[in-house]
Amino acid sequence: MLGSMMNTPLNIADILKFAAEIHPSGEIVSVRTEGDIQRTTYRETLARVSQLAHGLKGQGVNIGDRIATLAWNGYRHFELYYAISGIGAVCHTINPRLSAEQMTYIVTHAEDTMLFVDTTFVPIVAALRDHWPKGLKVVVMTDRAHMPEGDYLCYEDLLDGHPTTFDWPHLDENTASGLCYTSGTTGNPKGTLYTHRSTVLHAMMEAVGLPDVLKPGRKVLPVVPLFHVNAWGLPYAAPLTGASLIFPGGALDGESLFKLMDSEQVYSAWGVPTVWLGLQGEIRKQGRMPAGLGDMVVGGSAAPASLIRFFEEGGVNVCHAWGMTEMSPIGTTGNLPTHLGDLSLDEKLKLKAKQGRRTCLVELKILGEDGQRLPHDGISEGELFVRGPAITAGYYKNDEANKDAFDAEGWFGTGDIAKIDADGFLSITDRAKDLIKSGGEWISSIDLENVVMAHPKVANCAVIALPHPKWDERPFLVVVPAGDDRPEVPELMALLSEHFAKWQLPDDVAFVDELPLTATGKVSKLTLRRQFADHKLPDA
Ligand code: ADP
Repeated sequence: MLGSMMNTPLNIADILKFAAEIHPSGEIVSVRTEGDIQRTTYRETLARVSQLAHGLKGQGVNIGDRIATLAWNGYRHFELYYAISGIGAVCHTINPRLSAEQMTYIVTHAEDTMLFVDTTFVPIVAALRDHWPKGLKVVVMTDRAHMPEGDYLCYEDLLDGHPTTFDWPHLDENTASGLCYTSGTTGNPKGTLYTHRSTVLHAMMEAVGLPDVLKPGRKVLPVVPLFHVNAWGLPYAAPLTGASLIFPGGALDGESLFKLMDSEQVYSAWGVPTVWLGLQGEIRKQGRMPAGLGDMVVGGSAAPASLIRFFEEGGVNVCHAWGMTEMSPIGTTGNLPTHLGDLSLDEKLKLKAKQGRRTCLVELKILGEDGQRLPHDGISEGELFVRGPAITAGYYKNDEANKDAFDAEGWFGTGDIAKIDADGFLSITDRAKDLIKSGGEWISSIDLENVVMAHPKVANCAVIALPHPKWDERPFLVVVPAGDDRPEVPELMALLSEHFAKWQLPDDVAFVDELPLTATGKVSKLTLRRQFADHKLPDA
């Protein structure tokens, strides 16, 4: 028997309408490409989003059209999120750090009809436009005074003179709203096509998972870009809950972030570990934390235990989260459950180094090599599969990739190797393709890295597999020293020996000035493996 409740569709525009009415003074503060800081509120933003929606309609944008963006975190990018999806079109965020070839692939694959670009990225457009679909309209996200030369439309002109209200259509909640491609570390990038329903539900899931951060009066800084999985859902969850958004623009180095966080009194900042390693350097230089900082969300790759300790000891609650583009992206969050009672700092840190517990409406299961479910006992390790209403049901126009993305029960295979303990804490051991298999046994690169990162003379490190004639693969450690004073190899091995068996220790160590990063700011192990492909291990 069916129930008899209203079936009003979940629409993204309703989030901003709600914020404008219920949290009208919730702020959006942006470091602009023009060089200054711009301040606005959710109420004022709804007015500009309405003008932009009229402007898009005026350009002939229709339901289902893919409208691309190539932009930093700022209010205009935020406005595009809402105006594009609000009229039923699809906001396709492009990562400007992708290679020219990948960018051309996705603009062509998505069949974008319009592209909104920050002034910073105009040179990319100028260089690639001839390779992109003919007729692609390009709008530069600035005012008349800052427009570059060339065949471009001006963002502010698009809004100018239009009414500040818009009659938002009631869209079917399964209408596509956003499109985000993975960085494609193997093969071509793959697109996840979000819906209004998945996006609204994800915003609510996030709000439920982080109630101390997402509430009126809190200032939240997404360092994670709007071009990377919807800045982890913050552009939706913040207005929904009344939290203010502080957008950093393009200055993401430790010094700029410290300054912005300090002057704006940011309470919670979200980003990948590499960003926080940069901020950590600046905090050491300044000898203090940015004023007001009480919380941070770290994800995208494993947060080193030493980084978590540094911020926790400085009075900042560290929430270690895990997710994927294909999951909108949040899968787990790492705040500690109350049922564990009062824990010592060391016990707390041990748990926080894990990737957290599942968010509501996300189910997790671990499968062994035979496809059987493994128990959540904190020991059994296998591939992690997920299911939920904000998780992809298939990559956009990509039958090939969809063939083996799901198991027989329809769960999505994350490609991560993980275990889950009895309290529900997830531990990611590795990405399946980064695992090191030595003499038939697995070695976790993340565990090794965590220990090496705790050495005071280490700024960053990565462990990769190198081929070995006898053992198949052996771990190889690449270290970025913290200063001129390099750590000695025996020192590192002694440190590792406290935690690992002899056969798990790296066979060799290399020192480098920096590690290669992917377009999403993670250490690119693929590039590292290529870089050291000819390296000969001592007894190989
Ligand atoms: P891309 O695939 O483009 O790099 P995603 O952000 O979608 O971008 O990557 C998702 C992957 O990132 C996960 O499958 C996992 O391997 C890794 N990841 C994300 N968060 C964490 C974390 N907290 N710890 C370890 N790995 C993580």
